[in-house]
Amino acid sequence: MPLTLTSGRRPAASRTVARPPRHLADLPLAERRAVVAGLGQPPFRASQLSRHFFGRYTDQPEEMTDLPLASRDPLVQALLPRLLTADRELSCDGGTTRKTLWRTFDGALVESVLMRYPDRVTMCVSSQAGCGMACPFCATGQAGLTRSLSTAEIVAQVVAGARLLAAGQVPGGPGRVSNVVFMGMGEPLANYARVIAAVRRLTEPVPEGMGISQRSVTVSTVGLVPAIARLAAERLSVTLAVSLHAPDDELRDTLVPVNQRWNVREVLAAAWDYAAATGRRVSIEYALIKDINDQAWRADALGSLLAGRLAHVNLIPLNPTPGSKWTASRPAAQREFVRRLEAHGVPVTVRDTRGREIDGACGQLAASVSARQ
Ligand code: SAH
Repeated sequence: MPLTLTSGRRPAASRTVARPPRHLADLPLAERRAVVAGLGQPPFRASQLSRHFFGRYTDQPEEMTDLPLASRDPLVQALLPRLLTADRELSCDGGTTRKTLWRTFDGALVESVLMRYPDRVTMCVSSQAGCGMACPFCATGQAGLTRSLSTAEIVAQVVAGARLLAAGQVPGGPGRVSNVVFMGMGEPLANYARVIAAVRRLTEPVPEGMGISQRSVTVSTVGLVPAIARLAAERLSVTLAVSLHAPDDELRDTLVPVNQRWNVREVLAAAWDYAAATGRRVSIEYALIKDINDQAWRADALGSLLAGRLAHVNLIPLNPTPGSKWTASRPAAQREFVRRLEAHGVPVTVRDTRGREIDGACGQLAASVSARQ
């Protein structure tokens, strides 16, 4: 990704970036078969292993009773290495919001969140350990990029949630993951190939993948314009979310620094091209920050930019990061912001703020754990 903005941090390429072990979720089924054949096993074992992982959410050899005893360990070692270890689990909302802090094989920390609602279960996943986009209001942005996650490291977060749900360990009875949002740590479009492969794995039917509907997957971006154009050409029916946060370049240059590379006009043009190519409504993310971006005139400016477009606005009351001088907007300012957007005919929702008490916002748990180490 030709990003000019590294905000003075070491670029990832200057370090030796560790490669996670290969896992079947990294590979299309045909390549899994080739790996299995290379071990001297019949290729159909690749489907059996894949059904265990994507259909039964297990990577435990002893549960794979359809595989000959002697072949279980070699197959699991070759294609189902344990990639993520839960370092910490927190829950709130009576157990229906659960956040996991994962440790990767090389010690990086990433977060995922499961949110169960009456009608759906959403998994919020990380695509990178840390993030290089440096948005000043975001805990992950302040910590910088450690490395991109592999496809399987992304998929494993969703499988872990599916395992809990299937086992009935989330209040509400046994269930399934219905939605996936790439709104955890990282900039998904800066880890393009692995994120796209993860979307394919999540949405292909078992045994290729997990069988989640493409329409229930949301990829959220700061607005990497060439990558948005590439995504539009993938023929995936996923929802695009654009983290706009300001309607004007002067403010957006500071809130989302990559705006200095691709400005509001260019980002929205790419978003409308995406909507035209996919027929899908684009979600415009807007964190309401008191006296920074919540003025009535900015609501009107945003309304004018979005009026008549295939878009809706998702307002997020700012979840202040520790030590931040910024806070969430006052309720009256938030109400007025909503009213003005609606007056422009723009659909708007205010995001529920689940998980605040468990450091729910992007990167906050990982940040607090790193700080204590
Ligand atoms: N990098 C991607 C996805 C990860 S963040 C992106 O920027 O879109 C998911 C969403 O949470 C983004 O809209 C991001 O701007 C927002 N966000 C980050 N920190 C926040 C905070 N402290 N309060 C409210 N929203 C926040």
